[in-house]
Amino acid sequence: MTSTRAAVPALAQRAVSVGASPVREILALTARPEVISFAGGLPAPELFDAAAIAEAYARVLAEQPHKVLQYSTTEGDPALRAAVAARLSGRDLATGMDDILVTGGSQQGLALIATALIEPGDVVLVENPTYLAALQCFGFAGARVVPVPTDAYGVIPEALEEVARRERPKLLYLVPNFQNPTGRTLPLERRRAVAEVAERHGLWIAEDDPYGDLRFEGESVPWISALPEAADRTILLGSFSKIMSPGMRLGWLRAPAALLRACVIAKQAADLHTSTVDQAAAARYLADHDLDVHLDRVRTAYRARRDALLAGLPAALPSGSTWNRPEGGMFVWVRLPAGYDATALLPTAVGHNVAYVPGLPFFAEAPEAGALRMSFTTHTPEEIEEGLRRLAKVFA
Ligand code: PMP
Repeated sequence: MTSTRAAVPALAQRAVSVGASPVREILALTARPEVISFAGGLPAPELFDAAAIAEAYARVLAEQPHKVLQYSTTEGDPALRAAVAARLSGRDLATGMDDILVTGGSQQGLALIATALIEPGDVVLVENPTYLAALQCFGFAGARVVPVPTDAYGVIPEALEEVARRERPKLLYLVPNFQNPTGRTLPLERRRAVAEVAERHGLWIAEDDPYGDLRFEGESVPWISALPEAADRTILLGSFSKIMSPGMRLGWLRAPAALLRACVIAKQAADLHTSTVDQAAAARYLADHDLDVHLDRVRTAYRARRDALLAGLPAALPSGSTWNRPEGGMFVWVRLPAGYDATALLPTAVGHNVAYVPGLPFFAEAPEAGALRMSFTTHTPEEIEEGLRRLAKVFA
């Protein structure tokens, strides 16, 4: 008997096209404890409300074990959805629990929207630069991702109008508060202009807002979802990652009814539902504690860390560098002067036990070699000062 062994079929093209990233490999080296890293986009772990979260898990497991260890509905825990809806309604975005779908982080929300809305070849507009994993998500869905020019205030409405007319997009993806990677916040008049473009050209807006609750200065800006022009075409994505714990993998999505239904069906096919026990613990935590009391501690610490970073940057960076001053969130966006290449300098930085993320991968087009993202959340002000002294040597 002859035995032939046929090769297995190749991986799908979309799986192959996401190759290894040299930046990711260098950043893997920053896990060493001696490295002061401005690279990670992580919330500060010492600020997790760990004891209270542990108590919430203990309570739901003791009080309702048969319920919280069981399968549950795709839409999510009613108490958690009601708590999210109440929080939004309290901030002038009238929302009922039926408008909310609980997701496995807002990252899953992005994937569900892509499944529900995007056909291969459809155009998705993004800020340039934008959140890297959103680029990957829309890319996986087969979208043609088209960048919209931005300035210090985010997406430029006139440029958006022009691109929308030319490209006939289906979806515009925005991070309007303390954007990842730039830390920029879109002002209200631009939110209005964006909503009007969406109304005029008939497109969806995905308003991804994992950082809005981390405002430690200034006035919060209304969501695009709350503007009448775009209320019927905007999806608001929220997350518990930056305000409670990213490890719990809890987010939510607020969308008009027909799209929400499509996302529920897409989620059913993806994972049936988000972890019952994690949702129940989060709902218990929100019922027993005032989230804003916890957030005030986080905001106070982040403000001090941002201040330490901003105070040290002039001495650390080459003259001619520019950066912004975010009123919240986790990131400062730096632009080195002409001739500096943030990607090429990263290995030198890591050699000095300090790290940042080069801006390059965040651009859908026309990357700026001198751009880099600095996160200020995971180190104390003293560590930030030391990190900046090390960074100064990299540019010396
Ligand atoms: N959107 C943006 C803009 C982000 O920065 C992140 C995480 N860093 C996410 C979505 C995903 O967050 P999560 O899935 O943890 O909610």
